[in-house]
Amino acid sequence: MSAGSLLAFLMTVTIISGPMSSLAIQYARLQRAVGAADRLFAILDDPMEQPDLPDSVEFPSGEAHVDYSEVCFNYNPETAVLRNLTLGIPAGKITALVGPSGSGKTTVASLLYRFYEIQSGCIRIDGVPLNSIRRTELRKNIGLVPQEPILFNGTIYENIRYGRLEASEKEIEEAAAAANVAEFVESMPDRYQTMIGEKGMTLSGGQRQRVAIARAILKDPRILILDEATSALDTQSEMLVQEALERLMHGRTTIVIAHRLTTIRNADQIAVLDAGCIVETGTHEELIALGGRYATLHDIGVTA
Ligand code: ADP
Repeated sequence: MSAGSLLAFLMTVTIISGPMSSLAIQYARLQRAVGAADRLFAILDDPMEQPDLPDSVEFPSGEAHVDYSEVCFNYNPETAVLRNLTLGIPAGKITALVGPSGSGKTTVASLLYRFYEIQSGCIRIDGVPLNSIRRTELRKNIGLVPQEPILFNGTIYENIRYGRLEASEKEIEEAAAAANVAEFVESMPDRYQTMIGEKGMTLSGGQRQRVAIARAILKDPRILILDEATSALDTQSEMLVQEALERLMHGRTTIVIAHRLTTIRNADQIAVLDAGCIVETGTHEELIALGGRYATLHDIGVTA
């Protein structure tokens, strides 16, 4: 149904069901509804994801080493976003992506989850090309912790359980403890059954992040993509979030879109992006000693 015919349909229903005097109010409401419907149709009109290849395989059983090899990608034909990007992401270690805004950090991470298809080159996990791994398998084994956690209007328990729907109560409480959620839940009257409101608005920023981390711990993915929050938390909350993140990252192949100097310094590898290319890789000490792009970004305080 087009947005126009939806408008006509909704108007008819409203006119015959409401008093004529409220027509102007109803009409204004309808216009807003149609605006939302237009956006919805735009999403529905998007091309569907490519189906899995007929001989697609399960997630590799190796250590989850990731390789980007000469990857080219653009969102639209006019602008190249990643240009022959080559990067090895060691298994079980933390790789921090740094670089100016717009350099391609989020894009690099999104491609691993197959939000988009690359135009050329290859991304492999343990040598297996990404597009030959079944999408459901891929996504089951990759955990995403976004900058702004996506929580829904339900209980804390339900929000954590979303990480793995079949998890037991004990597993959920263990994940909550590891993510320092238990620390604030204990003082709530309904504990894990506390409703957290629309988008978790009754929780503080740090508490929302810890719920998202508990969800990821419960999912227990082999690979983790972490988009570090830019907004500052108070010191105590920061410490609890950091501690929870360290437990989550431990032993997993982690890609972190890093904004904090401590995260970057502690990463096993730093990959510096500039205009869709990797320009340097190394540890903090190595890159400072190199005196190149990272050292300059570091000096002027623009690491992310
Ligand atoms: P970073 O994470 O380093 O800030 P991004 O990966 O978000 O960089 O963006 C890289 C480039 O791709 C930028 O020029 C940005 O404008 C563009 N870009 C990002 N997402 C989209 C999108 N969904 N559609 C079109 N262009 C995009």
